[in-house]
Amino acid sequence: MTNASLKQTARATKRTVLVVDDEPGIAQMMVDAAEDFGFEAHAVHDWRSAEAEAADADVILLDLMMPGIDGVAALRALAAAGVKSRIVLVSGLDRRVIDSARRVARMQNLDVVDVLRKPFRPIDLMAVLSGLAERPRELGKVSAPPTGSAVVLDDIRRAISGGEFVLDFQPQVRLSDRSWVGLEALVRWNHPQKGRLRPDMFIPLVEGSELALPFTYAMIAQSLAALRKISERTGFSGGLAVNVPPSALTTADFPDHVLALLAEVDIEPSRLTIEITETSISTDPTLSLDIQTRLRLHEVRLSIDDFGTGHSSLERLHEAPFDEMKIDMVLIRNADHDASLRKIAESVVALGRSLSMTVVAEGVESAATLDWLTSIGCDVAQGYLVGMPLNLDGVCDWAAARAAADADAEAADDFPADR
Ligand code: C2E
Ligand code: CA
Ligand code: CA
Repeated sequence: MTNASLKQTARATKRTVLVVDDEPGIAQMMVDAAEDFGFEAHAVHDWRSAEAEAADADVILLDLMMPGIDGVAALRALAAAGVKSRIVLVSGLDRRVIDSARRVARMQNLDVVDVLRKPFRPIDLMAVLSGLAERPRELGKVSAPPTGSAVVLDDIRRAISGGEFVLDFQPQVRLSDRSWVGLEALVRWNHPQKGRLRPDMFIPLVEGSELALPFTYAMIAQSLAALRKISERTGFSGGLAVNVPPSALTTADFPDHVLALLAEVDIEPSRLTIEITETSISTDPTLSLDIQTRLRLHEVRLSIDDFGTGHSSLERLHEAPFDEMKIDMVLIRNADHDASLRKIAESVVALGRSLSMTVVAEGVESAATLDWLTSIGCDVAQGYLVGMPLNLDGVCDWAAARAAADADAEAADDFPADR
């Protein structure tokens, strides 16, 4: 579409974007991108102008830290003015702070549809805009998946069939004896123009599109094929974890697809763990419970990812049959020098164990963290200290290096090395 026809569409549908950001360069970048998506966009750099224009915009991209007013006060002012626009919070603040700002906004009936974390790359912004262009007003409604922009969908389709999505695997070790027990598959996009993209830059885009399931099945198939090869080369008999979007759990035949993929490579279902992040509340809890239960009946393992920061984690723990709890790395990474984080993590570990779940800590970066996790009864560790995410060959090399180190240590009658 030409620029002129894009603008025409924007005018015809009257979809306007107001960018509120005191950094003119960043604001302009958001304006340009919004225009590319067919919006009529402009920016203001101070709060007074923002307040004056907010009610007229369909969408507001709101920087939470404007000079002279903090984000909560800004949201309160928008609510008081009866603003009905869809709001995207833009901020470099910690995710938990943004989450609470989001709750503040919701409590005041503001329609916060998304969050854009600074610093962001153009593709993050594209993901948000593509969601805005097509997404139903409530974020997280999995029943009506947004279609996304045609260009982006074609890009993803080509990437799936062209093998542009590749996987790294990050090792996990059991804390009691430091043995290698698992791998988590983490996707990367080898984009022909943009280079190697981390999942945060495209997963929201993929998951918000109608290609979420084809993508998920392709990644599971690819992960299982790799597990087969790694097992053959290294003798590994442990598990593999894959990340799936919440929409998989409202797809009735998801378990059948997964079981068929396992059968294809002749891997026992008990070696597969499905990691689910509780970012959005399912619109159909009965169906998702049905699906989770079926997976469990077939011995596929279920893990609740990023536990400790979600909204409904405790409730979900009660109702769904999870085998494993992965503690959010926010609670682990800085534990060494933060006693209150350690206290929280310790009670989360105790909770998981009391529910007979395997407790996995991710984001383990230091030996001190590893020792502390061992002492509090955490079961499994994952993180840069244990092993970086590696490609298939890298995992095999990592395993060989460990085996060699273990042999040396045994010879020296010492403890096995950590990596
Ligand atoms: P996650 O599932 O929580 O994955 C852990 C992330 O933490 C990975 O980032 C990993 O590289 C990183 N990490 C591992 N150890 C450490 C550490 O010691 N310190 C720090 N600072 N970071 C560590 P990555 O690969 O960028 O993945 C980001 C997220 O993208 C994942 O978070 C997951 O939610 C999502 N994701 C990745 N692959 C897939 C996929 O195939 N499908 C879906 N739906 N989501 C995926
Ligand atoms: Ca995960
Ligand atoms: Ca996680």
